[in-house]
Amino acid sequence: MAGELSLSRARLEAPFVRKVEELSGQNPYACYQCGKCAAGCLFAEHMDLLPNQVIRLLQLGDEAVLQAKAPWVCASCLACTVRCPKGVDIARIMEALRQMALRQGLSPVQFHLDREYPQIALVGAYRKVTP
Ligand code: SF4
Ligand code: SF4
Repeated sequence: MAGELSLSRARLEAPFVRKVEELSGQNPYACYQCGKCAAGCLFAEHMDLLPNQVIRLLQLGDEAVLQAKAPWVCASCLACTVRCPKGVDIARIMEALRQMALRQGLSPVQFHLDREYPQIALVGAYRKVTP
C-alpha cells in the first residue's frame, strides 16, 4: 500500500469507487477520518489496513484497496457502523470490496479443511467467498 500517490480528477472519479458505492449503497466521501470505526473494531489488530484507512484509499481512488486483507478479516460485526458519526456503513463497504475482489480473482482466502471447525465458522467463511 505504501508508495507515491499522485492525485488526478480521473483517479478521484475512478469507476471502481463508483462500483463500491453502487454495491454498498454507501458514500465513502462522507467519512471525515475521525477514526472511531478503527478504535472500536475488535479485529483491527489483525488487519493490514484499519477500517478508516480502507475508506481513505477509496476516497483517493486507490485501487490497491482491492488487494487489502482487511475486508477478509472483517467479521461484519457492525461495531464500526454503529460508531460512525457520519452514518457510513463500513461493514457494507467491506462486503462490496470482497465482492469486487472475488470478481477480479483477488481473494486471499484459502480453506484448510484438515481439521474439524465449528459449523458457524464454515458458514461465515463460505459466505465471504460467495460473490
Ligand atoms: S467512524 Fe465514520 S467518519 Fe469516522 S473514520 Fe470511520 S468511517 Fe470515517
Ligand atoms: S464490521 Fe468489520 S471493520 Fe467494522 S468493526 Fe466489525 S470487524 Fe471491524
